[in-house]
Amino acid sequence: MENNKPKMPKFNLTWLYFIIAIILGFLVINSGGQGLNGGSSKEATYSQFKNYVEQGYASRILVKKEEGILRMYVKAEHIRDIFNTQIEKGKLPYVETAIPSTDKLEDFIQSQQDQGHFDGEITYDNGNSGWTHLFWSFGPLIFIVLMWFFIMSRMGGGGSGGGGPMGIFNVGKSRAKLVEKDRPNKVTFQDVAGQAGAKQEVQEIVEFLKNPKRYTDLGGKIPKGALLVGPPGTGKTLLAKAVAGEADVPFFSMSGSDFVEMFVGVGASRVRDLFRQAKEKSPCIIFIDEIDAVGRARGRNSAMGGNDERESTLNQLLTEMDGFGTNSGVIILAATNRADVLDKALLRAGRFDRQIHVDLPDVNERKEIFQVHLKPLKLDDTVDVDFLSRQTPGFSGADIANVCNEAALIAARNDKKAVSKDDFLSAVDRIIGGLEKKTKVMTAEEKNTIALHEAGHASISWLLQYASPLVKVTIVPRGRALGAAWYLPEERQITTREQMLDEMCATLGGRAAEELITGHISSGAMNDLERVTKQAYGMVAYMGMGEKLPNLCYYNNEEYSFQRPYSESTAQIIDEEVKQMIAAQYERAKTILNEHKEEHAQLAQLLVEREVIFAEDVERIFGPRPWTSRTEEILS
Ligand code: ADP
Ligand code: ZN
Repeated sequence: MENNKPKMPKFNLTWLYFIIAIILGFLVINSGGQGLNGGSSKEATYSQFKNYVEQGYASRILVKKEEGILRMYVKAEHIRDIFNTQIEKGKLPYVETAIPSTDKLEDFIQSQQDQGHFDGEITYDNGNSGWTHLFWSFGPLIFIVLMWFFIMSRMGGGGSGGGGPMGIFNVGKSRAKLVEKDRPNKVTFQDVAGQAGAKQEVQEIVEFLKNPKRYTDLGGKIPKGALLVGPPGTGKTLLAKAVAGEADVPFFSMSGSDFVEMFVGVGASRVRDLFRQAKEKSPCIIFIDEIDAVGRARGRNSAMGGNDERESTLNQLLTEMDGFGTNSGVIILAATNRADVLDKALLRAGRFDRQIHVDLPDVNERKEIFQVHLKPLKLDDTVDVDFLSRQTPGFSGADIANVCNEAALIAARNDKKAVSKDDFLSAVDRIIGGLEKKTKVMTAEEKNTIALHEAGHASISWLLQYASPLVKVTIVPRGRALGAAWYLPEERQITTREQMLDEMCATLGGRAAEELITGHISSGAMNDLERVTKQAYGMVAYMGMGEKLPNLCYYNNEEYSFQRPYSESTAQIIDEEVKQMIAAQYERAKTILNEHKEEHAQLAQLLVEREVIFAEDVERIFGPRPWTSRTEEILS
């Protein structure tokens, strides 16, 4: 779509051959037959030469001033007088000799002409031999350099696509794609469906770009970068483009992996080049996709020699970000699906200090995305957007775009006049089949299980006095979690045993609900169990909260000590206590859920329908909590 590569003369094989051909041609013309008549020439002294001319042997004389020699071509009838050997036919035999001085030579020839001994022509050759000379000294060098370019361009071009013909001449240049500001059909926020939160956050960046003075006049510093964090296909690139479109500024886009090449120093010089270009076009946006390719935390495996090239690229990026002023009008947006692997230096203030989360869409957002991508399609009236968005849990925006396109292709294959519901269903099946492993696409049954699980957490945390009050629950997969519940943890300085046990019970509520309702337990609870187990060990071994081990802390803060500060029998008691504690809370969770089966089922059902529910919804089902939270107490 936007293929705005700089217009460079293409360097490819044809050019190389062309250059070689010219060189060869040049060679042949310049040699003028000089070097080719091996056996038919002879060296002579100057007096011998004079002698030959006086005898009238010379047919033509060529004076090479630069080299200080002259060449006397011999008349055919006198060849035998000079050369005793047989002369090859078709070759002009000659005698060469050093010239004492040009003046003397001219005098001599003049006299010979006057006397009638020499009537041939005399030519002076000065310029040409200079060129030949030059050529011979630099020709091979040029040739080697050309060869080198050629080889390097083949090596460099292969890897990261698009390099191809431009090859080595651009190795250090950034490969950023530039979208100019005034292009037609630019992307705006209208093209980004859903993502209300993310859009709101980037809205501010648009303001910075459009009207920087408003902020700088008050002494504010405009942020240099923001990080878009979210799974692939959720529209991070789209959002960044929309920012550029809304602010009406040019947009440079590049992938993190484009910086890193096999040549040392290339990444760093590409970063430099990118920022130089961007500054020329300022105000503008630089978008770096997959920034983790360069931005991974440094020195993780430096024992293995590390990845110096990547590190130097990252360092250059940091330097450039620090180097340009806050009011230079360049804002860098970077995308990643894992902010946690990034180097801390990248996330520091003044660099990518804002993180904008771009999550997988929920059912309503999916509807909006469908509406965007259904627009260009010809649909019949069987197609129902609500139905489609309910059928596609876990799909990203890119998946939905893909479904729409695929449906149109399927309809076309069946010679239909319009795309119908069945085509969409086949497309969904195809995408699920093809993508299952790549993204977190769910089947209806999985969705159900996850809803039960999350509803279990939500119910128990609502019903227990000390569990953190819930803010929202979703079954939209996020990062590595399949569903999530947000709580508003109270800001406590100390935590009591009751509070910890209530939290533990709520955390176990997910699995308890699964077991109670479906009779099966699933792998979805692994994170919960891990948290609970750690917490229980902490309570028993460090906080002295075990029944059989009261008031004992076995905390050991020596990092690499392999010795436990307690005996084998204590270890057994700890394990035993932990098991009992968790088992008791699990039973408690099941009991509570059993007592509130109805409400739990309602909550789960609501989750399946809406995918996101908030505290109000839980309150509507369970009624208000009888306890005011501590936060509320402090505030009131
Ligand atoms: P990412 O950069 O997060 O991997 P992209 O921005 O490249 O994802 O999205 C790929 C395509 O998916 C977009 O070009 C667009 O067609 C579609 N898409 C993704 N998210 C949305 C959205 N929120 N609204 C509309 N289309 C979307
Ligand atoms: Zn859970």
